[in-house]
Amino acid sequence: MPGRTVGAAAVLDRIDRGLFIGGRWRPASGGRTFAVEDPSSGHTLCEVADATAEDALDALSAAATAQRAWAATPPRERAEVLRRAYEILVARTEEAALLITLEMGKSLSESRSEVAYGAEFLRWYAEEAVRIPGDFTVEPGGSGRIVLMRQPVGPSLLITPWNVPLAMPTRKIGPAVAAGCTMILKPAEQTPLTALLLAQVLTEAGLPDGVLNVLTTSDPGSVAAPLMRDDRLRKVSFTGSTEVGRTLIAASAERVLRTSMELGGNAPFIVCADADVDAAVDGAMVAKMRNVGQACIAANRFYVHADVAAEFVEELTARMRGMVVGRGTDDGVEVGPLVDEAQRDKVAELVDDAVGRGARLHTGGAVPPGPGWFYPPTVLTGVPSSARLVTEEIFGPVAAVTTFTDEQEVLRAANATGSGLVSYVYSRDIGRAVRMAESLETGMVGLNRGFVSNPAAPFGGMKQSGLGREGGRVGIEEYLELKYVALDVD
Ligand code: NAD
Repeated sequence: MPGRTVGAAAVLDRIDRGLFIGGRWRPASGGRTFAVEDPSSGHTLCEVADATAEDALDALSAAATAQRAWAATPPRERAEVLRRAYEILVARTEEAALLITLEMGKSLSESRSEVAYGAEFLRWYAEEAVRIPGDFTVEPGGSGRIVLMRQPVGPSLLITPWNVPLAMPTRKIGPAVAAGCTMILKPAEQTPLTALLLAQVLTEAGLPDGVLNVLTTSDPGSVAAPLMRDDRLRKVSFTGSTEVGRTLIAASAERVLRTSMELGGNAPFIVCADADVDAAVDGAMVAKMRNVGQACIAANRFYVHADVAAEFVEELTARMRGMVVGRGTDDGVEVGPLVDEAQRDKVAELVDDAVGRGARLHTGGAVPPGPGWFYPPTVLTGVPSSARLVTEEIFGPVAAVTTFTDEQEVLRAANATGSGLVSYVYSRDIGRAVRMAESLETGMVGLNRGFVSNPAAPFGGMKQSGLGREGGRVGIEEYLELKYVALDVD
């Protein structure tokens, strides 16, 4: 539609496409740019600056220079910056949502929800900025005093993925700003534009020069490595794959750099015999299809009790088959494309592997003809535990269902993975649901609920799904050092 095209062009035009360093926009030192692709067509949307290692060190210099004054800025002022950024972002919702859809593919209604969710982290941490507690205790055995204070960790490197390009950065920027840290944000190469918009929003909100720096790059390793070797960097907060997380943890060991890691998941979605099946299907649609399945908290393995499996699969298949697939910018579309060709090919490979091992296809399962990286909503049953999509994160619109009959058996299967981010349980028996929540080895559990993300709650995983938590009261601790001062009082 012509109206849409103009909207897209206008939104792209408003974005500064340079590096944002020390409060200024500038080209990359090597003069290079890289292309941002529209996943619904495979065409180039625009070019952005391609940062080099030299640019990375400039950004770190800017962050290190700004750190002292920012740490000394009264918490109320830091809170006001976040509150204004929240308001500006909410006012720019349509523009931000269109940008997310253009570079990442998800439907506009999903992108609007992401803007609302992402903005909430700015509002939540505006409130937390003025509530950073200290402590003052009389020594139990003497006249001394124990004083505890919390101070900003210092310049932090924030590395974010493409699947939630606005809320993953704000989930880090919110607490870092509130705590008084300066930052270098390195967004995913597929989705740099939303991060550039955030730099505009925070600047307009009054964030001082150098507090937030943004480096877009097509070569993340060569930008991150020199930063992590530099003594001035005090922390790396990463959201992305477990594989890259591991390499960053290894690199952090050299300098004993503080890390926060939000890594991959492989969520079990368990439907017990006593579940409300309609509610379980509603929850499954959210847990599976949000973000077209490209979410670390996406339900990856469905375990459905044999007594209700036929009903569950029939309803789920009907709902999945009825979803409207298309360009995220088109009206009524529920399922946009996957982010890129590699992601689409991986999903197709996982489904082919499962079918090759005897799984039964109920709907979907074939790459559609035409441009863009589309894959249809797909339901599989009889998936053997040897199938790759049981052990790997699918990251696509594919529900793989197996049946169970015994609570202990399903708990063993659910926990038989290195991942431990989230699990979902549907049961009308509150005792059973709580017992299962206690036994599941995941950082989060959805009980009769297919959605756990909430700015007021600590998000994060056990086992290989990560280290630390983001969001909620504890999220700010990731950006604070606890200092103990011993006092003699005679
Ligand atoms: P990815 O690990 O490939 O990329 C994530 C980020 O790391 C990107 O910014 C990328 O440029 C950067 N990166 C890649 N190689 C790097 C290197 N050598 N050094 C420094 N940075 C590097 O992951 P992805 O494919 O973009 O995202 C999908 C993954 O993210 C999934 O596994 C998903 O589960 C995970 N994820 C986790 C959470 C969570 O909170 N636990 C949230 C969203 C996504």
